Amino acid sequence: MSAEQARSTQSGPSAGAGRGLSAGGADFRHGDWEAVIGLEIHVQLNTRTKMFCGCEVTFGESPNTHVCPVCLGHPGVLPVTNEKALEYATRIALALNCRIAERTIFHRKNYFYPDLPKAYQISQYDLPLGIGGYLDVELEDGSNLRVGITRVHMEEDAGKLIHAGGASGRIDGADHSLVDFNRGGTPLVEIVSEPDISTPDQARAYVTQLRSLIEQLGVSDVNMEEGSLRCDANVSVRKPGEPFGTKTELKNMNSFRFLHRGLETEIERQIDALESGERIVQETVHFDPATGLVSTLRSKEEAHDYRYFPEPDLTPIELDEAYVERVRAGLPELPAARKQRLIDQYGLPPKDAALLAANKPLGDYFESLAAATGHARSSANWVLGDLSAFLNAAGLEVTQCPVTVEGLAELLGLVSDGSLSGKMAKEVFEVMTATGKSAQAIVAEKGLGQISDTGELEAIVARIVEANPGPAEEFRQGRDRVLGFFVGQVMKETRGQANPQVVNDLLRKHLQTPDG
Ligand SMILES: [Zn+2]
Repeated sequence: MSAEQARSTQSGPSAGAGRGLSAGGADFRHGDWEAVIGLEIHVQLNTRTKMFCGCEVTFGESPNTHVCPVCLGHPGVLPVTNEKALEYATRIALALNCRIAERTIFHRKNYFYPDLPKAYQISQYDLPLGIGGYLDVELEDGSNLRVGITRVHMEEDAGKLIHAGGASGRIDGADHSLVDFNRGGTPLVEIVSEPDISTPDQARAYVTQLRSLIEQLGVSDVNMEEGSLRCDANVSVRKPGEPFGTKTELKNMNSFRFLHRGLETEIERQIDALESGERIVQETVHFDPATGLVSTLRSKEEAHDYRYFPEPDLTPIELDEAYVERVRAGLPELPAARKQRLIDQYGLPPKDAALLAANKPLGDYFESLAAATGHARSSANWVLGDLSAFLNAAGLEVTQCPVTVEGLAELLGLVSDGSLSGKMAKEVFEVMTATGKSAQAIVAEKGLGQISDTGELEAIVARIVEANPGPAEEFRQGRDRVLGFFVGQVMKETRGQANPQVVNDLLRKHLQTPDG
């Protein structure tokens, strides 16, 4: 909605309307109620400079070191629209299948807050950049949820308030507040969804996939903890088929976990209130992850409270078709398209394809590996299995992985030519991640390697069959189960390194023809 509402440190009087989350949300219930959820996502663009001035966009630098008369709201200054920000916003709108407005303008949204020195925020109102789009979201069960995108618009961020002296960093109990204007004027894109989402799981899937899409567009760092992607939710509940209930706005959930828990808590609170005959009040609420409680921030503003009017210092923007098509042509392959291509080109299961398409570097690693080995399925299994498990445990991105595509391809080659069993390959992979040595070197050093050499195994098999005439005779009389005994003996002899398929074939041959 606005930078004011996206302010991460803001708080208000606690109305004590909180209600605990029961049993960690495990027994989250809808009963005969359904939730109606619409999400508003603020994305901070990673342009070099701010939305309307030449100040650098920074994070974590000394307070008030990247400011100028324009972003400090001094009288008489003139803002100028950042062309890169406009291009990035257009990219987002196009990737979300929006129609790009032929004419779009900025509005002043008037309100007072100490981190907004102009006492208005430059935003967009009735002529936003993009309208009427959608995002197809893949759900846990593999089904698709199409979430409508109402609008995509541009605006500027506010500064950052730091409330000091209190226990929680919130304004309650603080003895003074500080303001840092470095963030003031940073370009934001707000993405407003239709209320097409009905569970916390769906909301999480939507934000996860939207985040991945925006990351792949290269227009934002999409870091929720640092605030470059922020999420607010409009939530109401109703009996299916009935009109929408009164909604509340849940602010600033700065992680996927808090988003999920906040929604669960608020939906349960509304259901409980309605079932005990209370009324839902339209208000802005805050979910406190520490207590698991929802509390009132303030009553909800209406658009007319902001006295919107067209920003007289900025010219309207008219985007011709050539511009829009140029931006469209510059879009990378988007996750949905890549997922479909991975299915078509490599025959991957949709779930694997979705995972690889959601993470561009991981998808790139997979495609290079598949090209190097010529085996797409086993490459996908390794990338999504052992490799991802290692990366997750080590807290690494695939771009930081100590095992290169070539290194892993060599290991997979040893498996496909029968030199290593799948089990041994896992052990070798572990050593590779720890030492950076090549698969060949580790196999040679440890004397690993699967014995597939028929000549070498044949001598062992012949000796074992000869040494066990009793069981051999039982096998010849039809007791097939005895084969397991012989396989066990060969494995013992070879310390588990014999290729089981070769051993099986050789044993059958020798047991059926004792002289052979
Ligand atoms: Zn500035």
